Amino acid sequence: MSTFEEMKLDPLIMKGVEKMGFTKPTPIQEKTIGPLLKGRDVIGQAKTGSGKTLAFSLPLLHAVDPKSRQVQAIVLAPTRELAVQIAQEMRKLGAHTGVRVVAIYGGQSMGGQREELRRGAHVVVGTTGRVIDHVKHRSLDLRSVKFVVLDEADTMLDMGFIADVDYILGCVQGKKQVCIFSATMPQRIMDLSRKYMIDPERIMVNSDEPSVETLDQYYAVVKHEEKLGFLTDLLQRERPPSAIVFRRTKHGADRLARDLHQKGYQVVPLHGNLSQSQRDRYMDAFRNGRADVLVATDIASRGIDVSQVALVVNYDVPVDPLIYFHRVGRTARAGRDGKAYSFVSKEESGDFGRILKMTKAPILPMRPEDKLHTFVPGTSVHGGGGRRYRSQGGGRQHGRNRYR
Ligand code: ADP
Ligand code: MG
Repeated sequence: MSTFEEMKLDPLIMKGVEKMGFTKPTPIQEKTIGPLLKGRDVIGQAKTGSGKTLAFSLPLLHAVDPKSRQVQAIVLAPTRELAVQIAQEMRKLGAHTGVRVVAIYGGQSMGGQREELRRGAHVVVGTTGRVIDHVKHRSLDLRSVKFVVLDEADTMLDMGFIADVDYILGCVQGKKQVCIFSATMPQRIMDLSRKYMIDPERIMVNSDEPSVETLDQYYAVVKHEEKLGFLTDLLQRERPPSAIVFRRTKHGADRLARDLHQKGYQVVPLHGNLSQSQRDRYMDAFRNGRADVLVATDIASRGIDVSQVALVVNYDVPVDPLIYFHRVGRTARAGRDGKAYSFVSKEESGDFGRILKMTKAPILPMRPEDKLHTFVPGTSVHGGGGRRYRSQGGGRQHGRNRYR
């Protein structure tokens, strides 16, 4: 189905789609919405930035009866930020339907969320731990859920949430429709699907390769201690309206955010050592353009969609090549242009070699001297990363006003 009209969605949902300015479904939406509307279980894989949220949100909204007061759909996400983002998108899409979407996630008081749930939720979007807390405290009743979504399923598996997912799905009584969305499809997701899904339709749009048409990828060979200067030079030259800089460790991210702040950048950090209110505040600042650089760890930023991220920097090379694709997938989203730069120290040559081997799209040398370096795929020795930046007692002690 190549148009939204052909999908015969509830006109009130269509109104939301139009308001958001979406005129044509993306390939993953085109292929998954039809089967989901028919009640099929679906496994959907498409690279980051391909519109998976809408692919499950429209059929979900269609399945929910706003006249009932029960929780009828649940979306599970690996991170708090992603849960918030999905809930926001779903509220916009369902703005005219009367469907109430409530986000529940850790790091916020249970009380406020309990009150939200008590006032009536048709759809719950949450992280697994907090969903279970509410079930156990009887503030959330999942028995009448009929639509279940696992978003970023590969990350949820990586983070060890499988037992949580088991528990949550066990709370649902009666027939339920299940869909799993993911950027990559490791075998373990297929194993998961056998357990929870009935004759699922598998839809793979393509691998998690970045959109080569609109993304330019570069690398530079830079000594670890010279990376900060190299980054500020790059930011001076490119002047991106917004950029995400990735670090492997929480302390590394914290340290770099402070260094950039000292140099006068409007920068915010995002990593697991921050309190939830800090994370919310910093993400807001980045989304609204009050901060133009986000320094993030991988887990904290999975699935995050900030439109107009013009530039991604791999300040540290990720050990897992799949993480490389997830990182650069934060830019060049939905057909926009983007650039990705990787700073590769000698110690990281082996890891970068493996990334080069896995990418079909070219990753080009930034400068003539970068061409001279050869990368042999292998495991690298990580001596220079975040470890040196160990700060006693974790990142939380750093002054609250440091990043503005
Ligand atoms: P994914 O979950 O696949 O990484 P998202 O669902 O976060 O991708 O969507 C990426 C971006 O594409 C979002 O900014 C979203 O608003 C936009 N988008 C989604 N569907 C459409 C569409 N049909 N037309 C245009 N833009 C879309
Ligand atoms: Mg997504």
